[in-house]
Amino acid sequence: MPGWAEWMHKGSFRIANRCNSMKRREFIRSLAGVAVSLTPASLLGMTPSAMAQVHEVQDALMESGESAALSAAEGRAVPLPDLPPRLRGRELENYLHRLRAFNATHDGDVFLDAKRFDLLRSALARFERIQKTIGFGNFYLLSFDEAVHLAQSRAEVGAFTVDELDFLEQIFYERALLYGFYGEKPMKNLTDQIDRSEVVKVPNSGNHLYRGKPLEMYTLLRRRVGSKLILTSGVRSVVKQFMLFLSKIHEGNGNLSRASRSLAPPGYSYHGISDFDVGQTGYGQHNFTEKFVESEVFKHLHAMGVLSLRYPRDNLTGVRFEPWHVKVDV
Ligand SMILES: [Zn+2]
Repeated sequence: MPGWAEWMHKGSFRIANRCNSMKRREFIRSLAGVAVSLTPASLLGMTPSAMAQVHEVQDALMESGESAALSAAEGRAVPLPDLPPRLRGRELENYLHRLRAFNATHDGDVFLDAKRFDLLRSALARFERIQKTIGFGNFYLLSFDEAVHLAQSRAEVGAFTVDELDFLEQIFYERALLYGFYGEKPMKNLTDQIDRSEVVKVPNSGNHLYRGKPLEMYTLLRRRVGSKLILTSGVRSVVKQFMLFLSKIHEGNGNLSRASRSLAPPGYSYHGISDFDVGQTGYGQHNFTEKFVESEVFKHLHAMGVLSLRYPRDNLTGVRFEPWHVKVDV
């Protein structure tokens, strides 16, 4: 199981490719700071001794700098959990309360600090300019490298700054369970791409689906339910997911936890590899609320018994109930 040490190494090596050692130290410190200050042991299901080890690593970071901290982390392989916490009793009740009132702010929610919030705003505005420049359809499939190059070459977008890129890298690689998202991460690298030869554009939807099982599933649903069933979101690249996630954080004034209750963080979304969202024609925004369960389309899908949801009611991934999000195992 990958532990704390590997996580820190991964982060530090990536940053090392582009930045000086001071920057790298700051990055590692920021990760340690996030891990310690923002994760109550109870939330993560960590034992007091595991938490104490995290504190030791942080102390080493603060007192002796990067190398000592890395060796401390490496030597002890601090067991930051990869799996959802085993919630019981009162913890489980609190968790379910947070998920049911997903749009509210709750005690223990994790926020970006002011500096990172500024970087979020500038990076988000840049993504929005890219989307405006190339159009929604193309933006759905855009890879991170393509976005960086495009920004560089278009004056109307402007190149991402080093600080913005560092910020985006941190958001992508820091473990989402630190702010309450416990799902898996099907896209592990910031630079993972959508192979355009593997997807097809779905007429009248502006969205794409992967060939094979996802397209077969959508075709089956359409055949059974009829044309009132529509595809509301299909394949989404890391960049598209980034923009959605950053927008949600922005809307919540920097609240990472609130954003992740509604939307998988970049890399963690199954829209990147197989899943898709369906809705009903004319149902508007209700297609993305619990009201969708009252729609004809949902009732029909439910009655058919072929529908498998990625985020069922009261699931333990940290994401709210999403009756519109079709799970496709590939
Ligand atoms: Zn979805």
